[in-house]
Amino acid sequence: MFLKRLDTVGFKSFAERISVEFVPGVTAVVGPNGSGKSNITDAIRWVLGEQSAKSLRGSKMEDIIFAGSDTRKALNFAEVSLVLDNEDSALPIDYQEVNITRRVYRSGESEFFINQQTCRLKDIIDLFMDSGLGKEAFSIISQGRVEEILSSKPEERRAIFEEAAGVLKYKQRKKKAEMK
Ligand code: ATP
Ligand code: MG
Repeated sequence: MFLKRLDTVGFKSFAERISVEFVPGVTAVVGPNGSGKSNITDAIRWVLGEQSAKSLRGSKMEDIIFAGSDTRKALNFAEVSLVLDNEDSALPIDYQEVNITRRVYRSGESEFFINQQTCRLKDIIDLFMDSGLGKEAFSIISQGRVEEILSSKPEERRAIFEEAAGVLKYKQRKKKAEMK
């Protein structure tokens, strides 16, 4: 599985519709301070199901919608799509290419899609659970997170390793079964 493309419109500083192509291997995004490099990883985490505005460096979810600039009006919605290559079937879905889309309006209304089909947030989170990619996955380490991992409590550190190792899914299933 690898990330092929990120399309977004209205997400944070990206007022225009933009498309970022990735190829297998290493991609580096460079630019001056405040030019939107971290906003790209915020967009990836958001489409993968991040629900905490704070961890997206805002105070409320509306903060992720383009707020306007000297030359452009604010937008009413933000949309992010992630296209993943799934030829190795790393994601448990019968498609060689998977497109995940999330949209949010200022009213607070949200929409989620997997391959253009409306779905729930839970479906997206379940799809990525234990794939190594997910909002909390070890695959996304934001500025400051390295320190957090090093200094977090043993239980928290263990949770990070468990997600990385792919046992989280079984733990959650066990918990569900015990509740029945
Ligand atoms: P650094 O090198 O300092 O880490 P960076 O390239 O990672 O910088 P980001 O943090 O991605 O920069 O981008 C910050 C910019 O995004 C700021 O200029 C901020 O004003 C802008 N921004 C954030 N949210 C919005 C929004 N809702 N509407 C418009 N602009 C926004
Ligand atoms: Mg940054």
